[in-house]
Amino acid sequence: MSKKYSSFQSPKGMHDILPADQPWWERIRKEVKEATEAYNFLRIDTPIVEDASLFKRSIGETTDVVEKEMYAFESRGGDKLALRPEGTAGVVRAYIQNGLAHLGQPLKLYYEGTMFRYERPQAGRYRQHNQVGFEIIGGENDPIYDMQTIIPIYRILEGLKIKNLNIQINSVGCKECRSSYKKKLQNYYKHNLKDVCKDCKRRVNENPLRLLDCKELGCLEIKKKAPSIIDDLCDSCRKHFKGFLEYIEEMGLPYQLNPYLVRGMDYYNRTVFEIYADGFDFALAGGGRYDGLVEMLGGRSTPAVGGGFGAERIVEAMKALNLNMPSKLKPKVFLINIGELAKKKSLNIIDEFIAAGVKVSESLGKNSLSAQLRAADKEGAEQALILGQKEAFKESVIIRDMKSGAQETVPLQKVVAEVKRRI
Ligand code: AMP
Repeated sequence: MSKKYSSFQSPKGMHDILPADQPWWERIRKEVKEATEAYNFLRIDTPIVEDASLFKRSIGETTDVVEKEMYAFESRGGDKLALRPEGTAGVVRAYIQNGLAHLGQPLKLYYEGTMFRYERPQAGRYRQHNQVGFEIIGGENDPIYDMQTIIPIYRILEGLKIKNLNIQINSVGCKECRSSYKKKLQNYYKHNLKDVCKDCKRRVNENPLRLLDCKELGCLEIKKKAPSIIDDLCDSCRKHFKGFLEYIEEMGLPYQLNPYLVRGMDYYNRTVFEIYADGFDFALAGGGRYDGLVEMLGGRSTPAVGGGFGAERIVEAMKALNLNMPSKLKPKVFLINIGELAKKKSLNIIDEFIAAGVKVSESLGKNSLSAQLRAADKEGAEQALILGQKEAFKESVIIRDMKSGAQETVPLQKVVAEVKRRI
């Protein structure tokens, strides 16, 4: 190929999902459909693009997601927009804008969609990824809803045969208890300032909770001895967390307390969680409570909790665990045509089979019998229907058993019933 026409590549960190991988994605979609129906979550779709300030205000100006990873741009009309880096802010914006509170208290919503983050691409970390998220908005500030957000996610992962799951949990408290914890955290990091990265030096004063999100090796080391927020929870947050623990115990789901889990976005309060599977260092799913978000975005004070999983990571986990690739439904029948008249009749014959619920494959552009038989073989069809010039003229068709090679000619009118009898 000449230099001038050198081929395009997808943008760094963004990938095509090729036909060979689609069965994995289909499996996930099927599991999501079943879980959302079983647990009564209603689907919502929001735009991929929102006002950049929506994310700034909700996720937080000094978070990595907003500060370093957001694809923000100005539209031709001068609007400051951003590709969504996550799903919750858009769902809450839609909840307020459309007055969805009247649909139920609480309202259980779910979404599936593409998210964008300008991250350093590596296994399980892409610049474009897909998330499925669950949100329970409104109702009481009850830890049972925290549990009800985790259950469908956990059941989906289980349904996809991802084994040895472990739910890491923590409480990040509320505004009141966090303020005394932040001071302790600041104090601790100020004593260790020389060993943390440039960004963390800044975070100590700007947004101390975000110190615990840092992925730099030196900072991870310092985090190991940082004070834990659990000791600072106020009575009401402690009660909420205790209630949540009772539910997770009752469900018998495997969990582990992780006092340093704070989850990268400022809108979280109280319960936060992440789900891991043995052998993977990245979280498959994560979420938490965000009681202040609806009000912060202009709605009424409304408790809420949500969580989501990343589909790319799930596909990677399924592949790494050597789970059986869901097999594409093989076509039972392959239609072979020879000559113009046969070709003309072929399309109607295929539709008759489809109407009768039989999957037909074909390679209608090919003319030779041998090429079409080879294609039938490659697709693993059980029966081939051969519509030659003579057969097309006489309104008949040959049914060939692809295994034994036995052939029989039947009237075209009866071919659907005859094939159905055989398969
Ligand atoms: P978060 O919005 O950060 O809570 O992420 C929720 C889930 O989305 C994570 O647990 C991951 O499974 C997935 N996820 C987040 N960021 C990425 C990314 N950059 N690439 C792939 N998956 C991601």
